[in-house]
Amino acid sequence: MHIILLGAPGVGKGTVAKMIAEKFDIPHLSTGDILRDNVNKKTYVGNQAKEYMDNGKLVPDDIMIQMVKGRVLEEDCKTGFILDGFPRTIRQAEALKLIFDELNIVVDAILNLKASQEIIIERLSGRRTCKNCGAIYHIKNIPPKVEDKCDKCADRLYQRDDDKKDIVKERLMVYKTQTKKLISYYEKQDSFYEINANKKADEMFAEVCKDLGKAGKSG
Ligand code: AMP
Repeated sequence: MHIILLGAPGVGKGTVAKMIAEKFDIPHLSTGDILRDNVNKKTYVGNQAKEYMDNGKLVPDDIMIQMVKGRVLEEDCKTGFILDGFPRTIRQAEALKLIFDELNIVVDAILNLKASQEIIIERLSGRRTCKNCGAIYHIKNIPPKVEDKCDKCADRLYQRDDDKKDIVKERLMVYKTQTKKLISYYEKQDSFYEINANKKADEMFAEVCKDLGKAGKSG
């Protein structure tokens, strides 16, 4: 099962991707998570990416394409994966097509998560993430059982620096000017589905499962 997840920052891609990855037993490839891990470990890629990320800008395509190419060649991706946060530009989408052609990968579903601007801002400002395992919470909608503590591993929850107000504005602008173009790039494909992301995570997930069923992969 190979899935591409599209949508604005804060729309709920990470939350839904984790649910899909668990249900279909495939790895969740979040380019944002991979980059943050590289930044924390101060790797060469992390050092190159940090300033772009801190400012809500896109990391250059060449770095991203190399990174994703390397990751999808890893053993755990043999039976499939869900891509979250990639592609984000037409150039990345074209490069992804070449990678898929080379590896004989057919995309089962391209899911475009759509929500109103108010919901996106509310989700981004309330989002909290586990420092250790990456689990995603929301202070109102998906609160942890104990304040600021992860239900799964009890580590500390934090607010991403780029979820703060000024950077959020920039990220939404970058989405509008660069990433949104991917919708017209992909929407004519049979495997393209639009998901109403104004709903709660489990309702969104139910809609996704219905569409994946239509794609012939109800698992
Ligand atoms: P995310 O966690 O998906 O919101 O990504 C966080 C940040 O990582 C973005 O604001 C970008 O700076 C960077 N990033 C993640 N994925 C990509 C990508 N495909 N292309 C360029 N930059 C990316």
